[in-house]
Amino acid sequence: MDRYCVNTRAQANGDHEVHKEGCTFMPLPQNQHYLGAHSNCYGAVMAARLYYPTANGCAFCSYACHTRLSD
Ligand SMILES: [Zn+2]
Repeated sequence: MDRYCVNTRAQANGDHEVHKEGCTFMPLPQNQHYLGAHSNCYGAVMAARLYYPTANGCAFCSYACHTRLSD
């Protein structure tokens, strides 16, 4: 199980990125909303979407859950 958080600040494209703890691209501490421990990024993104419908996996640490809907 890994701990995940979502960036409370949207990216330029409107996505709220979901990160695994320790990711190089973790948001600033004040912009992190902790999502709990999940066995994979899918559960973490589902949890994040309760808060942010545009939550999306980080392309670096959660590539399997990263989608490019708005590119
Ligand atoms: Zn990340």
